[in-house]
Amino acid sequence: MSAVMELPVIRERGQREVFCGLTGIVWLHRKMQDAFFLVVGSRTCAHLVQSAAGVMIFAEPRFATAILSERDLAGLADANEELDRCVKQLLDRRPDISTLFLVGSCPSEVIKLDLQRAAERLNEQLMPRVRILNYSGSGIETTFTQGEDACLRSMVPHLPESTSATAELMVVGTIADVVEDQFSRIFSQLGVGPVHFFPPRMARELPPVGPNTKLLLAQPFLGETARALIARGATLLSSPYPFGVNGTTAWLKAAADVWGVDEARFTQVTAAPAERARVALARLRPWLNGKRVFFFPDSQLEIPLARFLYEECGAELVEVGTPYLDKLMIAAELDRLPATAQISEGQDVEKQLDRCRAARPDLTVCGLGLANPLEAEGLRTKWSIELVFSPVHGYEQAGDLAELFARPLDRAQRLAV
Ligand code: SF4
Repeated sequence: MSAVMELPVIRERGQREVFCGLTGIVWLHRKMQDAFFLVVGSRTCAHLVQSAAGVMIFAEPRFATAILSERDLAGLADANEELDRCVKQLLDRRPDISTLFLVGSCPSEVIKLDLQRAAERLNEQLMPRVRILNYSGSGIETTFTQGEDACLRSMVPHLPESTSATAELMVVGTIADVVEDQFSRIFSQLGVGPVHFFPPRMARELPPVGPNTKLLLAQPFLGETARALIARGATLLSSPYPFGVNGTTAWLKAAADVWGVDEARFTQVTAAPAERARVALARLRPWLNGKRVFFFPDSQLEIPLARFLYEECGAELVEVGTPYLDKLMIAAELDRLPATAQISEGQDVEKQLDRCRAARPDLTVCGLGLANPLEAEGLRTKWSIELVFSPVHGYEQAGDLAELFARPLDRAQRLAV
């Protein structure tokens, strides 16, 4: 166990200010082009999904909300019939859908509906043309990135069994297609493969899993999915996440070592993109060097991003809050944080706001709900949700990642001038 992991962690279980798991639909529906997300929820859920994802509406959107009405509440049997009718109507209209996710929410009337039974019932009628899966995006006791974990977890039992006698790589976690292509090129130049990405671009093309599958996680919030894949025989490669030059190099190296790639070849393949990233970071480092940063717990990306800011941008870490400290997912990152960084898990929002106000950091990374009040108090903020929506993985995006943090500081200086 590292020295850092023995440091006291503030653990809080109080009022929290986070989005719910429905938010994951925003990036998941863009990734899987033949999937559809049907939220079973209230008008509040419909508003959230519409306003979060509505800006990216396609000619044929890949999400919708089945709103439970007063009439549905009169009898659950009616609600089940109504849901089946709604699903069939949608599928008749949209033959392009191969996988439909029924996404649960937190209103009590939805909790009473058994969506797993509904999915089984519908599968009996609709398979193999369409697979119906279900997961919960409820805001009760979850944070917004857990929506992706629950979604991918629901797909794991349906992944085909791998028959490969040699190692296969599975990259787990939604990343932008352009970043996926960059990683594919690097793995191919290294001679690492075959490589599968999960989630895939087409939900009907599920990657195989088995005892020779090596898991490389692209996102740190997929603990349930990783455990389910491990239960199917896969092995987790422990590594920092591919943020910045150091994170990306360590992440690629974790796979390269399994495939026995020698040092010379690894350096030959990674040197040029790593150098481009260093040049991009050098331009932005003056904005962040020596700046004191405070992370509120929100996206579960906090620890890897804090490591990036500390190691590669020279930032000082005041407090690094995370909704959950899942050591299976984050061990290789924790080892790299400085002993001076206060790590906190969970939230008691008023107490944490007091600590933040007392510290007066140069930059506070937090959810939308906290950003405006803190800005009004003269603190500079960065919305953590933006870091999930933007392509920030890999060498080519390292500069963009630093810029996301530098922008509020730049803006503040311009306003001051
Ligand atoms: Fe609100 Fe719950 Fe619906 Fe999320 S799932 S929008 S928290 S009612």
